[in-house]
Amino acid sequence: MHTTVSIDIAIFGGGIAGLWLLNRLRQTGFSAMLFEFNTLGGGQTGHSQGIIHGGMKYALTGKLTQDAEAMAAMPMRWQQSLAGLGECDLSRVPILSNKQYMWSPRASKAKLMQFLANSTLQAHVEPLTKESYPSVFQHPDFKGHVFAINETVLDVPVLIRELANANQNTLFKIEDLSEKDIELNEIGHITSMTLHAGCQKINLSAQRYIFTAGTGNEIAINRLNTKALAMQRRPLHMVMVKLPFHAPLYAHCLNFSARPRLTVTTHYRQDGSMVWYLGGLLAEEGVQRNKTNQIAATKQELNLLFPWLDFSTARFETIRIDRAEPLQADGLKPITCFTKTIGNTIIAWPTKLALAPKLTDDIMQQLQLTHLTPCQPHKEALAAWPHPSCAIPPWEIF
Ligand SMILES: Cc1cc2nc3c(=O)[nH]c(=O)nc-3n(C[C@H](O)[C@H](O)[C@H](O)COP(=O)(O)OP(=O)(O)OC[C@H]3O[C@@H](n4cnc5c(N)ncnc54)[C@H](O)[C@@H]3O)c2cc1C
Repeated sequence: MHTTVSIDIAIFGGGIAGLWLLNRLRQTGFSAMLFEFNTLGGGQTGHSQGIIHGGMKYALTGKLTQDAEAMAAMPMRWQQSLAGLGECDLSRVPILSNKQYMWSPRASKAKLMQFLANSTLQAHVEPLTKESYPSVFQHPDFKGHVFAINETVLDVPVLIRELANANQNTLFKIEDLSEKDIELNEIGHITSMTLHAGCQKINLSAQRYIFTAGTGNEIAINRLNTKALAMQRRPLHMVMVKLPFHAPLYAHCLNFSARPRLTVTTHYRQDGSMVWYLGGLLAEEGVQRNKTNQIAATKQELNLLFPWLDFSTARFETIRIDRAEPLQADGLKPITCFTKTIGNTIIAWPTKLALAPKLTDDIMQQLQLTHLTPCQPHKEALAAWPHPSCAIPPWEIF
């Protein structure tokens, strides 16, 4: 015989989506618990570059869609929380940069202005004078132009830690789920789930089961055996460069296409050293390359883009990580966050860290539509269960 625990809402997956949602649900009076099988932030969230996009990537396509507008509202939502006035208290989360810069290595200013004018972005872009360029570009050999865009870059490991601390007693570590742990009734709704932690085992019964498990959402999709939903993975081969010099940089290198050629963010290791974390086309096209070739391609790219910097004693490491999203007909990236209700289960992907507040809004709306109301919590049954720890940032592990 094992214990049955009844709660309002069970969340599976402790990345940004699950942690933001948990916070909001608890504020609204629901008894909610979050179950994580590995570490908090150990999936896409902890590997992200921490940029709170305001729609730049979408605007470069030249189309001002509704979703680009929804994205444009996100920085304000985050700013409120970062000021301690929003739905989550993020006042202790460091802002690594208030701006993301955009540069083009060689193009004329007129060509760049023309490109930006053709995007829907020009209202948010600020051309800079040389004196206000980031220090990396203040070198006489830099011949390009730099613009600033209002994209905040956050310290994601601290973000995860702050969200976890706020809800510590409702976060639980479980062993990985298998399909047979999910019990369904005759109409395909989840009736209960069997959860394991070491030698402990419970039956969990919830009014709603919400999967914010990134790639782990696939297990629920398979068990629910639904044709209404499928997942796609878009892989990245990111590169980390431990710098032998001081050069903080938060910037997109423009390629005159819808996707940046290189996106650089800078992260600080505990030993005080600085790591450039490199994404953009380098990471997308790099999925075809093995680690040695990806590092070689990175060195070539850095030497081309920053010929005045000496990377010969820098240390390089790569990391492969998949973005998890709803399947798109064209295999491209979805334009906004995604939720799907199937019976008493919701499957959700934010598709961007920045969209976590909107994803939570969408889920809250779906709960309201089904008139879900809070019932009594039964927390004490899990008093002896382990809590998940926060993930070690990737730039600490090389
Ligand atoms: C390299 C990279 C850079 C990015 N940079 C940015 C950026 O700068 N800005 C931006 O807005 N977006 C960025 N993104 C996108 C963003 O990181 C993701 O959209 C977002 O973090 C997804 O959050 P999530 O909570 O849905 O998933 P995840 O962060 O993947 O979290 C899912 C969690 O679920 C857990 N889990 C899995 N299976 C189970 C299970 N069966 N039971 C319990 N738990 C389970 C996992 O261990 C994990 O902790 C980036 C993504 C990548 C990969």
